[in-house]
This record gives sequence, C-alpha cells and structure tokens, in this order.
Amino acid sequence: MATATSHLSVEAERLFSLLLDVDCTPGSKWTLERCREIAPLTAEINELKREKNAVILAHSYVNPEIVYGVADYRSDSYALSLAARDSGADVIVFAGVVFMAETAKVLSPRATVLVPDRASGCSLADSLSGDELRELKRHHPDAAVVCYINSSVEVKAESDVCVTSGNAYKVVASLREREVLFVPDSIMARNLQDELRRNGVDKVLHTSDGSCIVHDQFTPDLIETERARYPDLAVVSHPECAPEIVARSDYVGSTGGMMEFVRYSDAPYFMMLTECGLVSRLEAENRDKRFISSCKLCPYMKLNSLRKIRDVLVAPTADQVIEVEPAIASDARAAIDRMFELAATPQR
Ligand code: SF4
Repeated sequence: MATATSHLSVEAERLFSLLLDVDCTPGSKWTLERCREIAPLTAEINELKREKNAVILAHSYVNPEIVYGVADYRSDSYALSLAARDSGADVIVFAGVVFMAETAKVLSPRATVLVPDRASGCSLADSLSGDELRELKRHHPDAAVVCYINSSVEVKAESDVCVTSGNAYKVVASLREREVLFVPDSIMARNLQDELRRNGVDKVLHTSDGSCIVHDQFTPDLIETERARYPDLAVVSHPECAPEIVARSDYVGSTGGMMEFVRYSDAPYFMMLTECGLVSRLEAENRDKRFISSCKLCPYMKLNSLRKIRDVLVAPTADQVIEVEPAIASDARAAIDRMFELAATPQR
C-alpha cells in the first residue's frame, strides 16, 4: 500500500515538473494537487501500454495531460504516422482525429490502430468524400490531383499525391501538370496559388470548398489590435489561415515549423494563430518565452481524454478500431509514397 502511494506521488511530481508552466483552465496553471488527481489514471495507462505492447501517439493539439502524461510520441499528424510505422508496436492508440489514425493504419497495416473517440472528425477531412472527389475529377480531367494530408483515406486513394503543410509548395511546384486539383483545403489552395504566382511558377489551382474551423476564425483586426499593444510581437500562423492573415504574419509554416520558429526567435512576445494545444506545448518547452492569448480550440481534438484512452486500451469497441479496405489502403499508400519521393527530390 505504502509502495503504491509513493509510486503515485512520484508520478504526480513527474507530471507537475512537465506541466507547471501550462494553462490548466483559462488563466490558471497546473498545480501539484491537480497532478495528484490524474496520476492514478496516467500510471494505469502507462502500465497498460507495457502489458499490450502499445504506443500512444498524441497530436500537439490534444490536452497537455495526454501529451505529457502518457504519449510516447507527440508531434503533427505526418510525423506521428511515421512514428507509428517505425514503432513495431502491436497496438497504436492515436490521440488525434480519425483521418490521422487512418493514415497510421495505411502505414502500419499489421498493427491494431485505435481511436479514443470515433466522433473525433475534422472539418477539412469531412468536407469531401471519395465520391465527391471523383465528380470533381470529371470536371478537371487534365489536372493532377493533390490532397492535403488532412483528408479521408478514400480521398487519399483517389489522389495522385498527398502533401503536408510543410511540403505542399515543393510538391505542387514540382508537378509536370500545369493544372492542379488541390483538395480539400480551399484556403491553403489560395495561399499556395499566391506563393506560386509570387515565385513565377505557372500553375492553375482548382479546389473544393473545405476549411479548418479553427484556423479560419482569425481576423486581421485581431493582429492589428495586438500589434498596437505589443510592438515587438511576432505573429506566427499556419497556412490553413486566410491569405489576409498570412500576409500579416512574421512566420507562416507547419506545426513543426512554428515550433522551430519560436525556439530560435528572440522576440519577447508571440501571437500563435493556431490551436491552443500547440501553445500549451510551447509554454511547456519554452519557459523563457511569452505567449499572448490568441489561440482557438479544436472541438474534435478535445474529444480525447485520459479516461477514454484508458478505456480503449482495456476494451476497444468495434467503432474504435480503425479498418481500411485493402484496395483503398493500397491506393492511399501510393499517394503518400509519391509525396515522400517528390518531397525528397531536389528543387530545380
Ligand atoms: S484543427 Fe482544423 S484541421 Fe485540425 S483537426 Fe481540428 S478542424 Fe481539422
């Protein structure tokens, strides 16, 4: 009994050392008391992982008690899928959203891939079905079909190549075709078209009408107001934000790129135009930096919880197990592999 108590006390101290600079609720930081409350659950999950040869992949947007309490890997969807592929685990729990778990299943077909909550969709991935993409392709028969990784596995299977926010420009610019059908993010397509035009690359992008409900909430007014209050502010945004936001940002890039920018910048204040989970990670890992309140919550990512992760490891329900038909998995894998190939080719 005494040993179990001291084990939990060590676990609570471990959690507190990682979370102490992170907001627990708006305006209040994590306390040792709060870490003591969740320590039994994180300790139980970490034990279940050992028993089942399981790994937990946590997207940077999920709650910090998952990211720092139980995750084996924490990153963006692309890096997490590669981690899944290389982990050798029998069971992969993807604390993120469903399209990410589908990508992990395509890259790790032998593993059992689980999601804590099947309702964890995504406004981008859910905006376009495989049937709808087939219809769009009929309207643009000469276009190369490029899907952003934030898309369903059926959309990936219908695409010539998949891209991430980090390699989209390089891959699209390297395509032979002048016309490109870029789905499902219409905002990222506009940003890409602008960048291609600025660089004199002759491409015509068509798109569907999806957008991220988190990144399309930011407005230029918000930036102007905060710049007036903090003249040395560094504004950091994701290419899922509108072109008016991108034009006013000091840095625009993928989740990983944003983290790198903050790490090496000597700006005194940062305005992160992205999901709040990333700001929690930055607070935990850059204790000397200051972040002004600007982020938004993704309701899908926030469906993940420690309790649901414990339950899915103990007894997954049928809808928590990710299955992908072999033919669809094979076509989706081809689009992902083409991305690896084009992203690795030196630019002319
Ligand atoms: S933040 Fe946007 S793109 Fe990411 S899961 Fe949420 S809705 Fe989808």
